[in-house]
Amino acid sequence: MLDQQSFGRVSRMDAMQQHELAKSNYRYYQTQLKEVELAIKRMDDEEYGYCEECGEEIPAARLAVKPEVRLCVSCQQNHE
Ligand SMILES: [Zn+2]
Repeated sequence: MLDQQSFGRVSRMDAMQQHELAKSNYRYYQTQLKEVELAIKRMDDEEYGYCEECGEEIPAARLAVKPEVRLCVSCQQNHE
């Protein structure tokens, strides 16, 4: 009985950890999704592929790696 109880507690903690993990994954994907939605919106506006700050064209290679980027490399560096 005692063994069963402690086993139950462990798996409950496990489940809670899993739940926390799922929640943080969910938040991560929500953020990513928002970025992608914004990117799609900018494609509609034909602003996609241009830096939001300096208006320079973002290199295609950079867009290929991170399609949702809004800033060119140098403006991004200014933010970091
Ligand atoms: Zn820029």
